[in-house]
Amino acid sequence: MGIVRKTRSVDTILELFEDTDHAFSGVSLIERLRDQMNKTTVYRILDRLEDEGIIHSFQDQKGLTWYAKCQSCASGQHTDLHPHFQCRSCGRTSCLHVKITIPLIRNHQIEGAELLMTGLCDQCT
Ligand SMILES: [Zn+2]
Ligand SMILES: [Zn+2]
Repeated sequence: MGIVRKTRSVDTILELFEDTDHAFSGVSLIERLRDQMNKTTVYRILDRLEDEGIIHSFQDQKGLTWYAKCQSCASGQHTDLHPHFQCRSCGRTSCLHVKITIPLIRNHQIEGAELLMTGLCDQCT
């Protein structure tokens, strides 16, 4: 698990991400962990886990930040580029494990790309 110091708080957050492809919004994580740690701690741990290549973050259309587990990213370098899906009915947000290819664009150095697909999830169709 790299250089992330394993504290109880880190473990608690890692466990949430462990068995799911679902993403958690920062707001929902703070709400969920309210009795165990404060907002600053939650964001500090999320930042560290993201630096370590353990989780990644993305924004939705409302500007909320979401966090989800990485598949095969190395520390400091996020390599698993994939789209995300957000259900407009229940709000469930998850990683889509499909490959997207970023086109080479002349005279541009592409450093990131975000694709958020919206619609209805399998529970809501
Ligand atoms: Zn849904
Ligand atoms: Zn993802």
